[in-house]
Formats: sequence, structure tokens, C-alpha cells
Amino acid sequence: MNDIITPITADGRTGFDRFGQLVTWTLPDSGGYRTGYVLEDVREATCAICGQPWKNSSEDFQNQHVARGLLKPLVVHRTCYQGLEDMTERALWSRLLRDVFSFSARELPNQYWKSHPTHRGTPWFELSVQGISAEGRFQDVIPGRGSSLLIVAGRRKRVWELRLYGLGDLDDTFRDVEHTKGCALAHGEDEKHYYIHAWEEKELSDYLKRFAGAALERGYCRGV
Ligand SMILES: [Zn+2]
Repeated sequence: MNDIITPITADGRTGFDRFGQLVTWTLPDSGGYRTGYVLEDVREATCAICGQPWKNSSEDFQNQHVARGLLKPLVVHRTCYQGLEDMTERALWSRLLRDVFSFSARELPNQYWKSHPTHRGTPWFELSVQGISAEGRFQDVIPGRGSSLLIVAGRRKRVWELRLYGLGDLDDTFRDVEHTKGCALAHGEDEKHYYIHAWEEKELSDYLKRFAGAALERGYCRGV
């Protein structure tokens, strides 16, 4: 990244380079490295989410995110975007689990964006298939994580990934769905599982229903 010719912050870490680009430099990390990158000039802007302007500091100017796919790009605080993404994702799974009520959900750290500055805080979920006990109560089909029928699910870029555990062969269940099979360790077990990507909420709902249906077909739970 280029040197700053005209600083705009008191610490001199943010300013214009010789090409007129607004450049900012991070503070050195534990290894003594610093990173420079180009910023949007938000000195006259307000965040489209919270309505607040940016403060004149490198930290605040670096707290920016360009939200795309909205007819025109909008610049917002990264922290505001994180909060919105977090709420949006929780609202989606809340709707899905109302619709497909045979799952219980446990929150997981993000399994895809583990260190991405914007997306790392967005939760993933572990969804356990539930059955109905003789007393009519919901319960995990097979208590204990080692043998549960479960789906680990969350966002990755433009799709949601679903990792399907515990039912073994799902070729028939998802015959018409493009999928790739993975042989990966599932919670420390050497167990075959499937990856499926869903592009839309209705596909997510469909796949959850199929998985729960396959569990029911195979006698894992009474009718739910
Ligand atoms: Zn904001």
C-alpha cells in the first residue's frame, strides 16, 4: 500500500496517497506487522443504519463496511452491519424453526468466517432432530451429541451450508439436490456426513423437512 502524502487524522495513519486514494494503516499486530488498505471517504457521510457520522479518527474510519446488493452500495459502520447481520440471521432461523418444529437449536461460533472482520460474529447453529416422547414431550431423538441426528448450519458467502450428521446414506432423501459428500470428522467421530448448500430460505426449509422426514421414516421418532 502506498505512503500517505496528505494525512486527515491526527495520528497520521489515514490520509490520501499520491494517487488521491484514501489510505489507512492499522496499528502493528503482535508480530509487528501493520496493514494498509484503501477506504471509502466517509467524512461527509452518515451510516445508513444508525444515522451517525464517522468520527475523525483512524479507528472510526476503519469501522466501515460497504453493503452491496441493495440497488446501490451503502456505506455503514462495520459494527452496525455486524449487528444487523446477526439479527437477520437469528430472525431467519427463528422463522425456520417455527416452520420445521422438529428441531431444537444450539448456537455455535461461526464455522466459516472464523476471522473475517465483518462476518465472524454471525452465529451458526447446531440443529438436533427432536421426537415426541410417549408423554407427548419434545425430546432429542438420541440424547448425547455422539449419536444425535443433527445438522450444523450457517451462512457462507451467498449460500447456507448444511452439514448433515447421523442418518448415514441420504442419497434417496436428496436425490434431486446437487450435493457433495464429505467424509469428515463429525464432533470427533469418524462418520460420513453430507454437505448441502441452500441458496434460499425456502430451500433451507425444504432440506430441514427432508432430514426430519428421513429420521421419521427410519423409525427414529414418533410422528411429529
Ligand atoms: Zn452505524
